[in-house]
Amino acid sequence: MKGTGKNDRINIAIDGPAGAGKSTVARMVANKLQYIYVDTGAMYRAVTLFMLNEGISSENHEKVLQTAQNMVIELKPYENGQLVLLNGKDVTPYIRSHQVSSAVSRYAQIEGLRTQLVDLQRQMALRKGVVMDGRDIGTTVLPDAEVKIFMTASVKERALRRFKEMGDAEGVSLEQLELDIAARDRLDQEREVSPLRCADDAIVLDTTQMTIHEVVDTIFSYCISQMDGEK
Ligand code: C5P
Repeated sequence: MKGTGKNDRINIAIDGPAGAGKSTVARMVANKLQYIYVDTGAMYRAVTLFMLNEGISSENHEKVLQTAQNMVIELKPYENGQLVLLNGKDVTPYIRSHQVSSAVSRYAQIEGLRTQLVDLQRQMALRKGVVMDGRDIGTTVLPDAEVKIFMTASVKERALRRFKEMGDAEGVSLEQLELDIAARDRLDQEREVSPLRCADDAIVLDTTQMTIHEVVDTIFSYCISQMDGEK
């Protein structure tokens, strides 16, 4: 395949607000390129799950940081997705609960916690060949990524996508999801440390009217053109 030889491996940063479809798309692009997919939101979610289980409030920064320093977070490729291991235990089934989703942005505002996770994320991308999705990948984690995409969609569409994904397993209404997503957008955009922001050199993709396959194909073609340009 053109542009996918070992020496022209690149890093791909995909940022955007909650529910824009970043993780599905990032995973599919990674599969097509045979790259490693890194879901940074899963790392913030794993920390949040742990803190909630331990009863540690997001207000207590000192305790959060002290606890996080002793945590080991690992991401492992698994079938079509990724397993999240927290201190060796698979927490993948628990990190996407409504409870974790509602709390994660409060923990993600803590500067020292971000420093710790950003270090880990940079290590994961050192050898290139990584598709990483999050909020601050193109701006902070991998500002030198060869491809930067900022994926977005209307709040209504994003809530609808989440709703379809969740079914009514957790009894959360579409209206509630829309409110939750808008609140999370606000917290992620307005926080002081690495807020959700489109990098100046990112390609903006509004996916409201696009299918997943159209989004994947657009990003994939762009990656190939960038790889060819690198040679
Ligand atoms: O991507 P996902 O929706 O799973 O992310 C969960 C939350 O983790 C986000 O709403 C945000 O608060 C935080 N996050 C972040 N920086 C990242 C990835 C996620 O602050 N790079």
